[in-house]
Amino acid sequence: MKRSGLSDFGLDYFSLIGRKFQERESKIRERTICFKTCSKCGETKLISKFSLDKRNPDGRTNICKACRVLEAEKYYYKNKGRRELK
Ligand SMILES: [Zn+2]
Repeated sequence: MKRSGLSDFGLDYFSLIGRKFQERESKIRERTICFKTCSKCGETKLISKFSLDKRNPDGRTNICKACRVLEAEKYYYKNKGRRELK
């Protein structure tokens, strides 16, 4: 007789979680394409270079991560400068 125990339970549990995760992943992949053109720098980059954005129909932001970082820095220094002027 096969020993039933934690290892069996563990395997079932993790395969279930894995399946759920794969389902979710494939759903995300269905919506996304491999490449996307950044609306800021106009460069076509890998989809992984774009942050996730649930509000966007393709699930990614229109601006690449690099541009978002630049934007955030610009915003930061702009605000910092403004604050210092006051
Ligand atoms: Zn960009």
